[in-house]
Amino acid sequence: MAQARLTVITGPSGVGKGTLVSRLLAKHPSIWLSVSATTRAPRDGEVDGQSYFFLSREQFEQRVSEGGFLEWAEFAGNLYGTPRAAVEEQLAAGRPVLLEIELEGARQVRQSFPAGFQLFIKPPSFEELERRIRGRGTDSEEAITRRLERARVELAAEAEFDAALVNGDLEEALAALERHMGVAS
Ligand code: ADP
Ligand code: 5GP
Repeated sequence: MAQARLTVITGPSGVGKGTLVSRLLAKHPSIWLSVSATTRAPRDGEVDGQSYFFLSREQFEQRVSEGGFLEWAEFAGNLYGTPRAAVEEQLAAGRPVLLEIELEGARQVRQSFPAGFQLFIKPPSFEELERRIRGRGTDSEEAITRRLERARVELAAEAEFDAALVNGDLEEALAALERHMGVAS
């Protein structure tokens, strides 16, 4: 059986990846989104096992040493990783798999899944990105500063990706995402 497609979505913090992905999944329940592990503290409303698997640094490092992550990276002072087994199971079962991960992780997946499709999400402008991070109201000033610094690095890496889309108007961006994923809108 041909292996189902693996799609990676990357883009700076606050660009609207989570918003777009949740809209996509609501419309297309056959797409499977990987739940990552992280050492970041849960935000209000985040549920363990749904938003992320929230781990201590020790637990995370143990999983790394066991080879339990398909990829992992440090982002703005916290560790994030994609649990390997679940992704492999879903691909083997023929389901389209989606990973929403930052740049270093996307680079690792490019090596391990060269046939995967990698999509970059861009903001209409840097000022709008900052407005969205602040408007979300979930991050400390220090976290916002680190995320905006990292955003400049991520935005400079757009050309590494197979395609890019601007999340300006949400409905237009969702339609573009659906086209890239090969699902009817
Ligand atoms: P990310 O997952 O990339 O960090 P979020 O999905 O949390 O980003 O979005 C950050 C903020 O921007 C949220 O408050 C969200 O409601 C808002 N947002 C997302 N997409 C758009 C859009 N197209 N236009 C305006 N605001 C948006
Ligand atoms: P947040 O803390 O805002 O939820 O996520 C911060 C960044 O970590 C985002 O860019 C998000 O895409 C990325 N991220 C989430 N899960 C993973 C993962 O499993 N691996 C990697 N490399 N990045 C991740």
